[in-house]
Amino acid sequence: MRCPFCSEEDSKVIDSRLTGDGYQIRRRRECPKCKERFTTFETAELLVPHIIKNNGNREPFDIQKLRKGIAYALEKRPVSTNDVEQMIQKIVLQLQALGEREVPSKLVGNLVLDGLKSLDKVAYIRFASIYLSFDDIAEFTKEIEKLRLDS
Ligand SMILES: [Zn+2]
Repeated sequence: MRCPFCSEEDSKVIDSRLTGDGYQIRRRRECPKCKERFTTFETAELLVPHIIKNNGNREPFDIQKLRKGIAYALEKRPVSTNDVEQMIQKIVLQLQALGEREVPSKLVGNLVLDGLKSLDKVAYIRFASIYLSFDDIAEFTKEIEKLRLDS
């Protein structure tokens, strides 16, 4: 790793230890050229990506917000809390598995739609009608037609 003081290309690790919570490795490094010391932290890339909203703003992924949106769509529907939680956990895992730093909110919405589609068709339609933009309506209408043919 490059030295942040003199930009020398190499630096030497002189100490390496776990942080208090055990989820990070803290390394002390020394630059062989200018002898300055600095610290780096190493963390597993299992973070949930940030969300890019339609207006371009970025925000941290918020599981409570996701839970609330899904609960709203499922209001008074015969779906167990357990099934809902499993679906939410699956969405979070799918997001982590992408390994991206940022994903569009549309992608999260589509994961929710996929989950609701197999869980409860009424909730699926409710969620879609709130979440989909006007451009998506044509595509969604096709989806509804497919559901009608399935049932
Ligand atoms: Zn240096």
